[in-house]
Order: sequence, then structure tokens, then C-alpha cells
Amino acid sequence: MGHTKYVFVTGGVTSSLGKGIISASLGRLLQGRGYRVTIQKLDPYINVDPGTLNPYEHGECYVTDDGAETDLDLGHYERFLDIQTSQANNVTTGRIYQSVINKERRGDYLGKTVQVIPHITDEIKRRITLLGRKGEYDIIITEIGGTVGDIESLPYIEAVRQLRWDLGDENTVYIHLTLVPFLSSSGELKTKPTQHSVKVLLENGIQPDVLVLRTEHELNRDLRKKVALFCNVELDAVIQSIDVSTIYEVPLLMQEERLDVIVLKHLQITTSGAPDLNAWKEFVKKLKGSEVRVRIALVGKYVELFDAYKSIIESLTHAGATNGVKVEVTCIHSEMVTAENVSDKLEGYQGIVVAPGFGDRGIEGKILSVKYAREHRIPFFGICLGLQCAVIEFARNVLGYVDAHSTEMTNMTSHPVIDLMEEQKGVTEKGGTMRLGGYACALKKGSRVQRAYDAELVRERHRHRYEFNNEFLEAYEKKGLISTGINPESGLVEIMELTGHPWFVGTQFHPEYRSTVLNPHPLFIAFIKAAAELK
Ligand code: GLN
Repeated sequence: MGHTKYVFVTGGVTSSLGKGIISASLGRLLQGRGYRVTIQKLDPYINVDPGTLNPYEHGECYVTDDGAETDLDLGHYERFLDIQTSQANNVTTGRIYQSVINKERRGDYLGKTVQVIPHITDEIKRRITLLGRKGEYDIIITEIGGTVGDIESLPYIEAVRQLRWDLGDENTVYIHLTLVPFLSSSGELKTKPTQHSVKVLLENGIQPDVLVLRTEHELNRDLRKKVALFCNVELDAVIQSIDVSTIYEVPLLMQEERLDVIVLKHLQITTSGAPDLNAWKEFVKKLKGSEVRVRIALVGKYVELFDAYKSIIESLTHAGATNGVKVEVTCIHSEMVTAENVSDKLEGYQGIVVAPGFGDRGIEGKILSVKYAREHRIPFFGICLGLQCAVIEFARNVLGYVDAHSTEMTNMTSHPVIDLMEEQKGVTEKGGTMRLGGYACALKKGSRVQRAYDAELVRERHRHRYEFNNEFLEAYEKKGLISTGINPESGLVEIMELTGHPWFVGTQFHPEYRSTVLNPHPLFIAFIKAAAELK
């Protein structure tokens, strides 16, 4: 294929319609037809990246291998397409303005007035096309965050409008995602919000080529015809996206609706046959077919928002399908866990995950949860702060260091078992300054994790400032909490596991960022297997 082609996905009517899932599903279909695809997300907020955002704002911060802190939609892209994304796949308004302002300060604009059009829009266009420069992709899907009509989205809409002019009709396609609400009082599906939303796009100079309509009920031919007529799109370009029980069914639904075919038609690519979705279908079959339930408690402090632990929940789901069981995750608020109620809260679960996090809110509840898992021999998986809690718990209750803690929480401890990494000591800025992204981890031969990975050296992603304090390693290993994964360059402890326990593993890295539908993560698979085997 010659020129890289671009698919632009916008959203209307309301936010949270699942543009990310639609984009990822389309990507999967195109990939199934042999095209090299990647997806990019443009976020209209002014934060330079979501790394400094509280998870309550936009859910989890997803970390790429190259160390970018990004929007959680990139997690969907990687999980659906089994690709690696990078810094270039997520761009925010903050980053756009930052580069334009830096150029202005350098004098690059030679005395010109710097304006939204053309300077900001040019920078947006440059960022969009950057991914296509190396010729690595046939098709790039660009998802524009927010909703058309938002003040913040305007420069993005203008930039993608211009890109059709720059790149040509045959290299661009506009998909607009809207909602068709159902009014239960009159039993009717309503198309007016879609019509209005398309009108707003038109005011901004974009005639969508394809409309994807989110709906709770089937859209009949008459309704589709009405939308096609009023919104000026072909009838087969009105695509229904009906609610389903799992997001992993969406690519299959989009295939039934022929979303890939209509998109390729607009890109002037002739199609025949169907995309290869065999492995995907196999996964969905296993996911939906498993009846044996495995109950997992996820102990964290952002539990009010399911999206805060998106990648962990998806990784557990992938691992469930692999093991042929149905994983049911219950989020447990760590702030509510006390020494008095911990047994009530955690009784009956076959596995306990202690989640990543920052700061001391809810920390004691997490430590109590580790203790419960250790003493009751329940499979335990501690991730990042979860590992650190396991280390603190062991120090206090097994090694007898009663005041042990992480120096993130207090400096008033004579046993700083978790301490600030050396390279973090001079760091004062918050944004993008943690230990981020992929680092190597050498696994100890014969350990539980080495057997799970069936490898000697792995690469996993990180996002932290604190680490296990190696001064105490000998004491830990003597009592059975051993280090089974180490970064070969720095000697930093990456994994600890407890011997003589059915399954007790903590990782300093975040394995959840690497689990995909086609390649579920070995540690999650092993954890769920142990949980399923628990009597
Ligand atoms: N707050 C801890 C640290 O910075 C753990 C971070 C995390 O869980 N991602 O080391």
C-alpha cells in the first residue's frame, strides 16, 4: 500500500460513548485484513500528560514501553491490537502548546504573531502525521477526545478538516460516534441528538463519512434511512453499536455491521472476504463460555471508579479466559479495611490483589490485606505499591521491625524497608519524572515467576519513585520472602515471592500494561490458576 491513510474518529452528543473501544475494534478488523495499523489519541485538556492527573479524573494512567504516561484508551489499543504504542500515540493540548511556545521562545516564528490557526493547528497536524512518517503503518486511526462543540476540541476538528485537504479524499475518512437514546416513556429511539451533533460538525467544516450510533436497542432500517438522509451519509455507513456484555465482542459486532468494509471503501481500497478473527473469536468464546467462578478481591483506594484499575481488571479477565474460568472482581476500599473487619471483608475470595497507588491514604488497609492473604494462604498478587505493602507487612509481622514503613509515608521509621530511589533524590518536578517505562528484569532460575514466564529475562513497565531497600534483603530471604526478579543494571528488586505459600508474588513493575487478548500476561495467568485451585 502506498500512502499512509488516516481514519479520524470524533464523538458527539455525550462523552463516554466508547470511542476508544470503537477505534480499537476497527483497528482489530483492519489488522485482521493484513493492514499495519496503529491508533492515536488526541486529548483536549491542558495537562501536558495525564501523569499528574488524579485517577478519579480520567481513570488509570497507562504507561507505554517508552515511558510515556498516557490516557487509558491506549491500553485498549494495545490490548485489542497486540501492538506497542509510544509517546507519539497520545498528544494533549498541553503538549501542543508547550511545543509551540518553546518554538516561539526560540524565535522560530521570526517575529510572526503566533495564533491558534495556523500555528496550533499545524502542530496538531504535525503530531498526527508524525506516526505515518516512517512508513511503518498503512492506516492510522486518530481518536479525538471530548465531544464536538466543546471549546477545547475546536483546534483538533479544524486540524483534521485541513488534513483532508492536505492528504486527499482517498487518504482520509471521518467517523462520527453518537448516541441514539431510548425514551422508555414513549418506547422510542431518538435520532435528533445525532442530527444536531452532525450539524455541529458540519458547521466546523466536516461532513462525516461514517456514523456509528451507540444504542441500547436494535436500530431498524427505517431509522437508519432517516439518519442517512438527514446526515447526508450512505445507508450502509450508518453503523449500529449496540450494548454488549463484554467490550471484547465489539470487534465482532463491528464486523457484522461491516465497519471495516465501509471505511476501506472510503479509502478507495477494494475488499474481498472477511478479516481473520479466528483467535479473537476463540478468546470471546472462552470468555463467555466459562462457568466456574473465581472471586478476586482488588484492594485499592480508587475503587469508586472502575476505570482507575482498568488494565488490572482487563488482565484478570484475559487470564480467566485462558484458564477457562469466569473471574469476578470485587473492589474493596482499602480505607475501610481495619484490623477488626479484615476477615469479614476478605473472607470467601480465592485471590487478593493489592493495587498500585501513591500516598498514605488507605495504606494500613492494604497492609492488613496482605497479612490476611499471607496468613490464610490465599493467592496474593501485589503490584507496585502492592509489593511495597507486602514488604512492609513482612517486616512488621515476621521480621519484628514493628515501625517498618516506606519513606513515602513517613521518615520517622528506623526500618525504611521501602526507600526513595537514588536517582529520585534530587527530583522536585512532578510531571514525567518517575522511573517510567520498560526495564529488564532477570528472573531467578526455578522460581515461581520464572516458571510462569518460562523465560530468564523479561521486560516490564514501571511507574514509581520508591524501591525495596536492599540493605534488608538478607533478613527477608532468611525468612522466606525472596527476591526472584532483579534489574540487571541497577540491582533493583523487581519481584519478591514468598516460599511455602500457594502463590504470593509482588512486582515493582506493572504487569497489567502488557496483557493483551492474544497474549495474556503469564503472571496473571499463574495467579488466576492458583486462585482457581484454592480449596
Ligand atoms: N507510590 C509508590 C512509588 O512511587 C508506588 C507507585 C505505584 O504503585 N505505581 O514507588
